[in-house]
Amino acid sequence: MKNEMNLLLSLIVCVFSFTLVACGQQAGAEKKEGSTTEMPFILKPESEWKKLLTPEQFHVLREKGTEKPYTGKWLINTKNGIYTCAACGNELFTSDMKFDSHCGWPSFDREISGGKIKTATDNSHGMSRTEIMCAKCNGHLGHLFDDGPTNTGKRYCVNSVSIGFTEIQSNKNEKELSPNKYDTLTLGGGCYWCVEAVYEKLDGVIDVESGFSGGTVNDPTYREVCMGTTGHAEVVQIVFDPVKTNVEEILKVFFTVHDPTTLNRQGADVGTQYRSVIFYRNKSQESIAKNIIADLNKQKVYDNPVVTEVVPFNAFYKAEDYHQNYYQINSQKPYCKMVIQPKLEKFEKVFKSRLKKTNKQR
Ligand SMILES: [Zn+2]
Repeated sequence: MKNEMNLLLSLIVCVFSFTLVACGQQAGAEKKEGSTTEMPFILKPESEWKKLLTPEQFHVLREKGTEKPYTGKWLINTKNGIYTCAACGNELFTSDMKFDSHCGWPSFDREISGGKIKTATDNSHGMSRTEIMCAKCNGHLGHLFDDGPTNTGKRYCVNSVSIGFTEIQSNKNEKELSPNKYDTLTLGGGCYWCVEAVYEKLDGVIDVESGFSGGTVNDPTYREVCMGTTGHAEVVQIVFDPVKTNVEEILKVFFTVHDPTTLNRQGADVGTQYRSVIFYRNKSQESIAKNIIADLNKQKVYDNPVVTEVVPFNAFYKAEDYHQNYYQINSQKPYCKMVIQPKLEKFEKVFKSRLKKTNKQR
């Protein structure tokens, strides 16, 4: 609960100016123009919708209400899956279409094709906006704006309460179905919260998990690793698509966002669990890592020599769930603001052109 409060606060701080013209619509006259569909239409009397929907759903979907910004269930949902109309189950968006708009409502840059969403002009509140509705049941979803940050230029601003979500383990499935398609690298660069947050944003990265590697204890807990007696380092395991990124780039990011010259230490975090280490899985990863380190030392990129270990990978133990996506969920905590955010900003500056397109550019 505390985490949720922190998140809420952090989101409120991030409000962008277009919040003012976002979903702030109350009931307005329903209009039929702009319809783009011939979908089978579900016609029910409002009294029946009232029975089927929660009061909040009914208010938004049937009375064109708007949920309060930063309160919706799906605002920060980053799982893979499909978003459906909460009233009729019509499939509207996929998680690939979702992006972080900082407007307080779930935002998408396009819709599932096939005329599942229809539009209408909404002149309420002294503004002219484009209303979006489920084409199958006429349920009010939100509004469509032309200020999207991705290449579509669109922002579908949708009430969480209007949509449902079905998770699909697409990356994981794909990882298992085509194990040869992706490559994996395991890196220790101090606190894994920081390193994970960075790699989540790099284009070509399929999956990042925080965990432990390089020690002697099987399946350790975070507490055990913190004691410094397991031999494990805090690491991130990065699964990436070698067509879109590669070991060189991943290591370049690695050497940009952590200090590889402090032995068993990153800033205030001290102990062997914070050592700088590259766990290679094959000869190629080993030689690329060693070459980059030799180069960094030769060019005197840092004031002191690089102490990063390059050692063979043995095992990876995933950390407890609350360590995964830590920054995303806790971005307003002091540690995140003071330690992780500067690293993230540095990464975003240096690797500007290499950010995932779905992340809003700062
Ligand atoms: Zn619907």
